[in-house]
Amino acid sequence: MSDALSHVLGKSARESRFWNAHAETMPRAQLDALHLQRLQKLAHYAYERSPFYRRKFDSVGLKPGDIRSLEDFKRKVPLTDKSEFIDEQLESPPYGPTVALPDDFIVHHCETSGSTGKPLAIPYSMYDTIRYGESWAFGYWALGIRPSDSFYFAFSWGNFAGFWSAYWGARRLGCRVISGGGLDTKGHIQAILRTRPTVLISTPTFALRMAAVAAEMGVDAANSSIKFTYHAGEPGPTALPAMCRQIEEAWGAKAGELLGIAEVNAFAPGCPNGDGVHVNELDSFTWSIDPQTLEEVAEGEIGENVITSFSNVAQPLLNYRSHDLVRRRVGCTCGRTWVKFEGSVLGRTDFMVTVRGTNVYQTAVEHLIGQIPEVSSAYELLLTREDENDVMTIRFEPVKSLASDRDAWGAIERRLSDHIHKALHVRLKTVAVSPESLPRYELKTKRIIDQRPKEFRRALDR
Ligand SMILES: [Zn+2]
Repeated sequence: MSDALSHVLGKSARESRFWNAHAETMPRAQLDALHLQRLQKLAHYAYERSPFYRRKFDSVGLKPGDIRSLEDFKRKVPLTDKSEFIDEQLESPPYGPTVALPDDFIVHHCETSGSTGKPLAIPYSMYDTIRYGESWAFGYWALGIRPSDSFYFAFSWGNFAGFWSAYWGARRLGCRVISGGGLDTKGHIQAILRTRPTVLISTPTFALRMAAVAAEMGVDAANSSIKFTYHAGEPGPTALPAMCRQIEEAWGAKAGELLGIAEVNAFAPGCPNGDGVHVNELDSFTWSIDPQTLEEVAEGEIGENVITSFSNVAQPLLNYRSHDLVRRRVGCTCGRTWVKFEGSVLGRTDFMVTVRGTNVYQTAVEHLIGQIPEVSSAYELLLTREDENDVMTIRFEPVKSLASDRDAWGAIERRLSDHIHKALHVRLKTVAVSPESLPRYELKTKRIIDQRPKEFRRALDR
């Protein structure tokens, strides 16, 4: 190894804090130059191979050669949205004119959950799956996971891209993979005791559920072989510090997570210092817009993340609206030069409700619930309409030790309501329900129950 590299990588690559130190600490100007080169190539590729993009470009009179700067790309390439892809796919299933490769090149098919709308079909080429897998390795490595570790997947293998790609990532790192498949929660605990994995992959809520079930079986998860837990699929350790502590204590492990978008990739591994995620700028180009005016917002302001992927060659994604609200910062004390989203995703543009004139984001409420120690991690946000207003009611479970202390429940309801009022200047209804009575999910947890009349709902998945 040359001297120039060894001061970045340490004595050997295996001791480095970074999976790819060269890429993760690349100076801004060099990243910008790399992005421009890749965006220009991608614009040509998409225009020449995807009828969908050719139509989009032609509709605004844009030719790929017109893109001469990052500003050109942001201002001239039309924004794209999941709903457009779904409409194209409905017209000519399964992928429609959005794909850029012949059928023979598609080696894997996934779908979004589509729980509130039509699912989006996601085609992957072999290259896509390799890049998607590698995107997990940045986060695994930063947490301390190494090739000698072994992964347990508490996950039944459906069409959910998140954990398929987590598996591709474990393979990329060279780790042993153990699949929990369709086992029930007790079965997962028994399999972990039997096979002694060191890494647990699950949604954050399911990790907590598993630890609770283990306790009922007389097993202390904190003394198990698990040294790391890693999560995706819903807000977890980097967005919710209280949840991070709960998982780490329950499993006696280090908890990490990344931010992904099923149809893009696992594009933002957690910052080793906590409190946010870094955009993988080797695989993606991102910027933020005001979701109403579609104008770019400045660094440090909250805006909707717009992403262009360099790793999706089967179904290219250019200026793709994520509907995730983020706060961008350049630079971080951890040493990565990659843009950081402080606090990870701060909310969804489609999960915002207006309660008495105040915009309330789901993640902000979740963050505050997590700060009350007498409240368990299971809760629901119920949306209704009363007197021409949106009303949000929090249904939560007090912790198990307070199961029979009904007087305490009332006090927690008031405390939670006051805590939220102080932070968000809005009064939400709070209702305690019996411990363990709300549903737990292996996959994405359904937190929002929208009972408003149809005309007041914003489409969630479309
Ligand atoms: Zn960082």
